[in-house]
Amino acid sequence: MKMLINGNFVDSKEKIDVVNPFNQDLIDQVPAGTPEDVKKAINSAYVMKNELKNFSARKISEALYACAVDLSDDLEEFAILISMETGKPINAARDEVKRSIDTIKLSSEESKRIYGETVPIDAGIGGKGFMAFTLKIPLGVLGAITPFNYPLNLAIHKIAPALAAKNTVVLKPSATAPLTALKMAEIINSHFPDGALNVVTGRGSIIGDELVKSEKIDKISFTGSVETGRMISQRAVMKKITLELGGNDPLIVLEDADIEKAVEATIRGSYLYTGQVCIAVKRLIVDDPVADDFVEMLLKETRKLKMGDPLSTKTDIGPLINENAAKVVERIVSNSLKDGAELLLGGTRNGNFFEPTVLDQVTSNMKVVQDETFGPISPIIRVNGIDEAINVANDTRYGLQASIFTENIRHALKAVQEIEAGSVMVNKQSTFRTDNMPFGGFKMSGMGKEGVKYAVEDMTRTKLAVLNTR
Ligand code: NAD
Repeated sequence: MKMLINGNFVDSKEKIDVVNPFNQDLIDQVPAGTPEDVKKAINSAYVMKNELKNFSARKISEALYACAVDLSDDLEEFAILISMETGKPINAARDEVKRSIDTIKLSSEESKRIYGETVPIDAGIGGKGFMAFTLKIPLGVLGAITPFNYPLNLAIHKIAPALAAKNTVVLKPSATAPLTALKMAEIINSHFPDGALNVVTGRGSIIGDELVKSEKIDKISFTGSVETGRMISQRAVMKKITLELGGNDPLIVLEDADIEKAVEATIRGSYLYTGQVCIAVKRLIVDDPVADDFVEMLLKETRKLKMGDPLSTKTDIGPLINENAAKVVERIVSNSLKDGAELLLGGTRNGNFFEPTVLDQVTSNMKVVQDETFGPISPIIRVNGIDEAINVANDTRYGLQASIFTENIRHALKAVQEIEAGSVMVNKQSTFRTDNMPFGGFKMSGMGKEGVKYAVEDMTRTKLAVLNTR
């Protein structure tokens, strides 16, 4: 596939192979873009912003809706492409496309709800005899950078709200999984003018800086790892920035929890897309009196998970994104065993595949729970009571989402108030997300919120008009 610059699909001499993580087949190649390509894409978006800002909200809304309809028509094709380029089990890939359609429809609706307000300016000294109101105007050009794990919906979470607010966009998708975003760009480009959306493929280390540092870019919206996010925030001087970064989400099971519900949620939360999800459940914090029962049920349910071909609807656990990622998980698990964790299930790597793994007797200082482990691992930390559970939950540099299982309303409310995370779920695992909710972490998990309404708000500027009525 080719890059999209100023409405043209353009190639380059050097290419990047896109490989299926399941069988290592070459799926396609994409251009290894250069800083020069990024400059051209930025210039195209920079010129088009003056045209797009004059589009009516009605026209923008209709164009977005048409994109959603086209994506619905091609749902299965998109799901297969996601599954092939990421190794995501097909059922989860279909869910991603359905959510992407929803994200675009929500953006289409939101584009009609961008309001300013009247300002009671005569309440201030010297304001008598004046009238004032604000306008919400577009920011200009959005630079969007996205990761491999949700290659469609995370790109849509930036592109659709940006267009809804009449901004133009330059997207840099992950070099590992760029195909779905390019296919989506074909749809968007058919309903918006050339230059409204540009997509440059390539390695972040080579083309990232041009995008992040350009004075023609008004905002950077980045989703990816803490390490890359930190680097970007240091370089994106004098522009708005949203960072959606890694997570290390806890799931607390208290003595008074419905254990069956908690186990079912753990299975969904720990193993969705083989654990390669920012909001996957990455730490199980379990009250000691119920820990043995919880572990027994968790082992029983984990044993039922089927590893295999991501394109089969029977597959729960696919490959990790590449062999190196699987080796990292292998190393983290073996180090935690050396540090005293007990292996109850799994623990073995086979190429890119890593078995669903349950570890008991984990402590907060182990690497498997200090860092973000991107794999199918359930590390269990045993605690005594809610206070210790919340302390352990907060003992991390991350704060994306969190969950607690309890039938006691006081415990639920205490957790909501005291856990340091962007969202706290009660009796639901942290992978819960709807595309209209405010989403974004605390601490090292990020800055700012996505979720259509919140992203649109952040992609506008407030301008004040003052009228002398005397
Ligand atoms: P990554 O940080 O390696 O890459 C993300 C993007 O940044 C890619 O497009 C990459 O090419 C680009 N990049 C790399 N170096 C760059 C540079 N110097 N300048 C500009 N761009 C650069 O992340 P990944 O491995 O693709 O994705 C996994 C990570 O993303 C995990 O940490 C996961 O938790 C996080 N993530 C967060 C969310 C969220 O919403 N909070 C959602 C999904 C994934």
